[in-house]
Amino acid sequence: MFEIHSLRVGELYLPHGDRIMRDPVHCWLVTDGKTRILVDSGMPDMPEVRRSLNVDGIGGGHASLIEALALHGLAPQDIEFVIPTHLHFDHGCNLDLFPDACVLVQRDELFHAIDPVATQRIYYRRDIVIELINRKRGSQLRLLDDDCDFMDGIKLLKLPAHTPGMHVPIITTARGKAALVSDLGDHYRYWYPADPRASDKPMRFMTGSFLPSPIRSEGEREFVAAMQRVIDHTDIVVPAHDFRIPKHMPEEWFAIPDSTAGDLAHVAPEGSARTPN
Ligand SMILES: [Zn+2]
Repeated sequence: MFEIHSLRVGELYLPHGDRIMRDPVHCWLVTDGKTRILVDSGMPDMPEVRRSLNVDGIGGGHASLIEALALHGLAPQDIEFVIPTHLHFDHGCNLDLFPDACVLVQRDELFHAIDPVATQRIYYRRDIVIELINRKRGSQLRLLDDDCDFMDGIKLLKLPAHTPGMHVPIITTARGKAALVSDLGDHYRYWYPADPRASDKPMRFMTGSFLPSPIRSEGEREFVAAMQRVIDHTDIVVPAHDFRIPKHMPEEWFAIPDSTAGDLAHVAPEGSARTPN
């Protein structure tokens, strides 16, 4: 049985219409008390995010991740496995903090990071690819080619949709199974478009359906089929960029949050630059 702790390592301020949307960036500490696994490894530090994406925010880099782990009494060397769900800049950075951990990534995702579809080139980084190919020891890198029964209580589902080689960990806890769905629907509103608790604009005509998010490497039908596959394997979904996700599972546990408050937190905190250069 595993416990899952959400590590918030920063926020991105993304253009959303004529306003700015705050997107929290999360990693997850997964542990059964013996084995410590990090799912997703965060984003670059903010000067580098500004330089490479022209996007503002807070947190990121080594410091935020080290601080988040320290809140749980851990240092990077205590992590045995790192599982980036995919290799976008806000999910697979900072791997150099974990030279002796084993990184698990789908072979298709590594290839896509080298040669992405045109619309995703901005999300991939050379330093992440170089970090992975420099891991020469078998104990430092495991490339996967499909679903993987990683260990008792943790299954990885390979789900081409957001990217060709994304995998989603399905984690067994004392209360049930939790899916760390990452950017396969990175807010609750993609998963529950008909539920008024998930969005202040419920789309009732979509009852029993899902909304594919706009950043995807595959078609809309493939995206929705991937979401259905997650639901078939899990009890709750935990999106990567929703402010309302549970902090500690299984102590906190819900399928859909009680309110929409804080989902689209449009206002950037005081003092932050809106359009940095
Ligand atoms: Zn992504």
